[in-house]
Amino acid sequence: MSTVIRNKPIEYSIEGMDCADCARTIEKAVAALPGVGSATVNFGAARLSVEPAGDSAALTGVVERKVGEAGYRATPMIGRLALQQQPYWQRERRVLTTAIGTVVSLVAFALSFTSAPTWVVNGLFAVAIVVCGFGFARAGLLALRSGRADMNLLMTIAVIGAMAIGDWGEAATVVLLFAFGGTLQAYTLERTRSAIRSLMEIAPTTALVRRTDSSTGLPMAREIRLPVEDVAVGEAVVVGPGERLPLDGVVVSGTSSVDQSPITGESVPVDVESGAEVYAGTINGPGVLVVKVTTASDDTALARIIGMVEEAQGRRAPSQQLVDRFSAIYTPIVIALALLVAAVPPLFFAQPFSEWFYRALVLLVVACPCALVISTPVSIVAAIGAATRRGVLIKGGATLEKLGRVRVVAFDKTGTLTVGLPMVASVDALDGNHTHLLQLAAAAEARSEHPLARALVHASRLYRNGPTPLEASDFTAFPGLGARATVDGDVIYVGNTRLFREQSIPLDGVTTRLDALNAEGKTAVLVGTKDGVLGVIALADSPRPDAKQAIDKLRRAGVKHVAMLTGDNPRTASTLASGLGLDSYMADLLPAEKVEAVRRLHEEHGIVAMVGDGVNDAPALATADVGIAMGIAGTDAALEVADVALMSDDLSRLDYAILLSRRALSVIKQNITVSLAVKALALVLAAFGALPLWGAILADMGVSLLVTLNGMTLLGYRGNIEENKSTDMSITHARSTAH
Ligand code: ADP
Ligand code: MG
Repeated sequence: MSTVIRNKPIEYSIEGMDCADCARTIEKAVAALPGVGSATVNFGAARLSVEPAGDSAALTGVVERKVGEAGYRATPMIGRLALQQQPYWQRERRVLTTAIGTVVSLVAFALSFTSAPTWVVNGLFAVAIVVCGFGFARAGLLALRSGRADMNLLMTIAVIGAMAIGDWGEAATVVLLFAFGGTLQAYTLERTRSAIRSLMEIAPTTALVRRTDSSTGLPMAREIRLPVEDVAVGEAVVVGPGERLPLDGVVVSGTSSVDQSPITGESVPVDVESGAEVYAGTINGPGVLVVKVTTASDDTALARIIGMVEEAQGRRAPSQQLVDRFSAIYTPIVIALALLVAAVPPLFFAQPFSEWFYRALVLLVVACPCALVISTPVSIVAAIGAATRRGVLIKGGATLEKLGRVRVVAFDKTGTLTVGLPMVASVDALDGNHTHLLQLAAAAEARSEHPLARALVHASRLYRNGPTPLEASDFTAFPGLGARATVDGDVIYVGNTRLFREQSIPLDGVTTRLDALNAEGKTAVLVGTKDGVLGVIALADSPRPDAKQAIDKLRRAGVKHVAMLTGDNPRTASTLASGLGLDSYMADLLPAEKVEAVRRLHEEHGIVAMVGDGVNDAPALATADVGIAMGIAGTDAALEVADVALMSDDLSRLDYAILLSRRALSVIKQNITVSLAVKALALVLAAFGALPLWGAILADMGVSLLVTLNGMTLLGYRGNIEENKSTDMSITHARSTAH
């Protein structure tokens, strides 16, 4: 048992993490702890993941203490929730110390204008410095021990330096501004992160479980309320009207409608009855439902979404890597410059030491890259948070940046541009027994996930009083072609002409029929054995009602080329393509040829986003610069390879995602420009001795805050999603239930 627990990472939630650069200090310090294998800080989601080297029990409390030294609070997590909340006064300690420090300093400043003795004034400043600065000094020491010059360390040196040359008032101002800025920063970042956290709170923490009690001799159903963690897969939970579903499952009795907006971002109630799949976090309508649980509480669709989003927020974008690399060079250079400024003029040019020492301290503060380092991640966290609230999962900063530069959008046809629920339009058996043909096809396709297959199975069920269903075995799928299975001892092929040609099955007797169906824009599915075709089934799939509008919107969002890639026949493809006003289409493609087509689109037009339902598009989705999977109920494989997942089937979210990414890119650019410009200005002013210490701090803190607020504006960005189609539902609900 212990071998299982071993090495499983322990997740901590970190409170008050305001400085992206300092987060690296924690990472290093925790990784260096005995018993720790590795440590990773996810700044975006404020998470620390620690992989124990040995027994995880040895780490209890150790990591918390280390993180505490850095001035933050770590709380181990169970599932997706932090284990316990800190008492209020402890959480707000930073606010408290800053307030005390401010009051004491104000008194000291006031006294400095009176005839009060200097030692009293400086003494008061010293008190303020110790109260506010103790935490930073300790964190700075931690940075020093981990061999890093982070902001805490630089500030600590600057403050000690200012005290050393007798500038007590200045030292206190520095500490206060630093504390003030940090607190404000932590607060704004918390607001941004909570956009995701509120998603987490939408699933109830308890469930009403129906169990059979046989202790009385007679088996009796009884209902007990249990924490969701304690509900086993396979148990039945009862969900009352208006209640939120506690876990994922399948309805076993009752009828109702379920509002899936918390997961799909679309607030259209879906009717459910026995057999329907339902998800944790969604809201039950007027009926009572009994649901058989299909997933553990930490593996529900909602939990997976949250996990994915948190991971995404921690993933670094290329622009961020650039910034990190820049600051890794910038900081040491400015520190070296500061050393020179402090040493050279007094030693070689007989300049006053204290003046140049002071300029060196200013340079140390200017060496802090904080605003720059935070400018990108904060924008990414906000953008990903905003997208999640509107039903779009973007898996990381790199994807966000690419999505903002998309030139081509390529669509898969079936299930993406079309509804994906093809209807059987006609059945043509060569021997005249049409029912039997449909049955054969349905039996052969029973295990296929393809929309065409599902349509065949569905149609065959409509014959209520028809012959008993046939049994099939040895099912094999040919992606993009069809399927094969043994039915009643015969090997049956179901698929397109390409499949039949590849299997060298003669198409005698159906060629005219095929041409006619293709001309009508219908998809012809052939059914046959190795010896010949038995008949043709025609299926018609209608375009999604919102497809045309979505494509127009894409163009307005700046997409230059919209293409369709399909495995269906060219006639059907061309009918749909001209109806929707696409720029190009490619038909008769096998999954591997779709990959090739995506490559070609990239070469011809630039960055390609491929949109698919993922039934057999996974390779193309993976090849595209940005793979976009549709529908949370879509296959897990597609969600894995996709870079973006649209939780609902709503195509209009596509242009929103692109517009949001564009906006995020420009916010990031603005942030980087402002941070660099202010740093450059500060450097010049500092070189001329025209920048006081407090001015340097104010510049850094001010710009940090400015870029954070600028990044936060992304949270509210709704692109051209219509107001009445608001998908902010999930968050509003979350707020009202969180209290
Ligand atoms: P799309 O690119 O439109 O999503 P697919 O690649 O899924 O289409 O399939 C391409 C073609 O292959 C379909 O139009 C159909 O003719 C045939 N096909 C694929 N799978 C099946 C199946 N399970 N049953 C019947 N036909 C199939
Ligand atoms: Mg498909």
